[in-house]
Amino acid sequence: MTPSSQLQVMLAEENGATPSVRVVQALSEHGALSATQLARITGLAKSTISTALTSLRASAMVIESSAAEKDRGAGRPATTITLNPAAGTCVGVLLGGEHIQVIVADVTHAVISDVALPMKTDYSPQEAVTATSRLIGEAYREHRLSLQTMLGVGIAVAGPINPRDGRVLRASGVPTWSGVNIKHEFQRVLKCPVIAENESNCSAIAELMWGAAVGRQDFIFLTMDLAIGGAVVANGQLVSGNAGAAGEFGHICINPDGPLCRCGNHGCLELYAGLKEPLGEFSRQFGQEVTIDEVISLARGGNLAAQTMIEQVAHVAGQGLGIIASVVNPGLVVVGGRLALARELLLAPLEASFNRHSLVKRSELDADARTQVLSSAFSGRGACLGAVGLVLRAGGRTG
Ligand SMILES: [Zn+2]
Repeated sequence: MTPSSQLQVMLAEENGATPSVRVVQALSEHGALSATQLARITGLAKSTISTALTSLRASAMVIESSAAEKDRGAGRPATTITLNPAAGTCVGVLLGGEHIQVIVADVTHAVISDVALPMKTDYSPQEAVTATSRLIGEAYREHRLSLQTMLGVGIAVAGPINPRDGRVLRASGVPTWSGVNIKHEFQRVLKCPVIAENESNCSAIAELMWGAAVGRQDFIFLTMDLAIGGAVVANGQLVSGNAGAAGEFGHICINPDGPLCRCGNHGCLELYAGLKEPLGEFSRQFGQEVTIDEVISLARGGNLAAQTMIEQVAHVAGQGLGIIASVVNPGLVVVGGRLALARELLLAPLEASFNRHSLVKRSELDADARTQVLSSAFSGRGACLGAVGLVLRAGGRTG
């Protein structure tokens, strides 16, 4: 058995696993940890951790990592343990509207390769599988990695995914994909475990593992981009919902008499807080096509129309957050998507509107009872990284 296949088996173990397996799974999910942190996370006694580490060191499954300590800056424990980077690699794939991104990382969470390929609009599942397979093959060749080390592939898709079978329920970024079983299509060609997940859910996983929600167990992720998406994380896990449609905040109705939405209903949040329409209108007034990044820099430079546009979408998004908070009263909201790059220009009016649309006001609460609103740590580019995280967190447990 190769170290990678041994690791794959250990990551795939379910509850009731041995101490060694629990240590391996904790290291896969968290990257570098001290023995004390391992004891806290696994709930095992320090002596049990120590015995497990001795046998895992002997089989070269874990290493003591001074490199990780150096890379991660000061304040880390003196001795950290990681999985042996040679023991496995993970792949994250983002099936974007007009591009496919592939990230290859090792099991210490180090990114080895990050590439993207432009695709024509509405590419087919078959084209996606072929392009993805080629990008993965090229990345492994370029970095002299063996495909045998590939533990799994996480795939971020625009649209809800049925958690039971990996089918796309209602595609948005790639409209003709509705009903396609992403997991099977990719697994057939890539010949390794595949986990497919909604793009905003992947972004939330990136925040949980490496971004604005590190150390948090419960939070809401709100994607503000051309469309509106979201995710719910509870007890450190994604809430998929019964059919995979949890967190589809863009289709909360805020105006029953409003315009028709692509979902078939009227007046959805996405029509007002998504940037597709406002950006089109702004571009018409501006006399040329303007991107989200350009609107943000115009707003920063004092352009009143750009500032007003951001304030208007922030106002409606705050109204939507008020509805979401009435259901779950989150301790943390992480705002992602490309508009999150506007930082305070977005967050200040968003928080003000959120407060107006909440039953309990911020001024009535102690600091620790208030809902914290933070920008994403990944500038709207966390989804592919989160797809890598899906594999690191779940290993071969792909259902
Ligand atoms: Zn809708």
